[in-house]
Amino acid sequence: MQVFIVGAGPGDPELITVKGQRLLREADVVIYAGSLVNPDVLKWCKEGADIYNSATMTLPEVIDKIIESVKAGKVVVRLHTGDPAIYGAIQEQMDELKKHDIDFEVVPGVSSFLATAAALKQEYTLPDISQTVIITRNEGRTPVPGRESLRSLAAHKATMCIFLSVHMLSDVVNELIAGGYEPDTPIAIVHKASWPEQKIVRATLNTIVDKIKEEGITRTAMIVVGHCLDTDYSLSRLYAPEFSHMFRKASE
Ligand code: SAH
Repeated sequence: MQVFIVGAGPGDPELITVKGQRLLREADVVIYAGSLVNPDVLKWCKEGADIYNSATMTLPEVIDKIIESVKAGKVVVRLHTGDPAIYGAIQEQMDELKKHDIDFEVVPGVSSFLATAAALKQEYTLPDISQTVIITRNEGRTPVPGRESLRSLAAHKATMCIFLSVHMLSDVVNELIAGGYEPDTPIAIVHKASWPEQKIVRATLNTIVDKIKEEGITRTAMIVVGHCLDTDYSLSRLYAPEFSHMFRKASE
């Protein structure tokens, strides 16, 4: 195997997987998504590796570089931010590689919505509050199918992690309220989770737009909405003394 599509994790270079780190150490060629991957992650690359920033490349250029490297017997890592399966635009790359009969492996990564939970010290799935996490985005230049509008998803009142949308925050807030969230629903925005410059802003739907303006956050941020951010919830039964499960008998 010569080609690996690797999740770099959310920013902190230690949040890449052990496998991802090993592959970076072994790769002769690394093509990284420079708009979002923390350049600090590249410190795991071996000396002399050829490193390309895909932010300035087209898809055909990326594919050509991979093909050329494979033909030269090199190991290639295509490095994507977070987990490559979430807004990573990897499907078209994988399809092109398949067309050229180039085998590859995908190595998952820690997605930013999970680094955001860690930054917030928050569980997204609280009993009685929400057992569902919706990963979505507001419509931008990439269209979102109408049946998945923020407004319709908001009706579930599940925990929502909204990517790629902080620059359209007032739109997002209006849609969430139109969909059924009360204006005093808690919301948290984490800018650059796990990076040294990480910033957390907490507010309610009512107040978040002004607060974010004050903070000057316009990109690379995760929006989390839902009542899990309240403090009032039922305890999980999993660790309750009277609750038996496969690995533990209830105490009397
Ligand atoms: N594949 C990536 C997402 C790429 S889309 C993943 O799994 O995380 C880019 C969007 O992800 C950004 O607009 C932002 O909403 C979010 N994002 C990426 N890194 C982030 C970080 N460190 N903190 C908060 N949000 C982040």
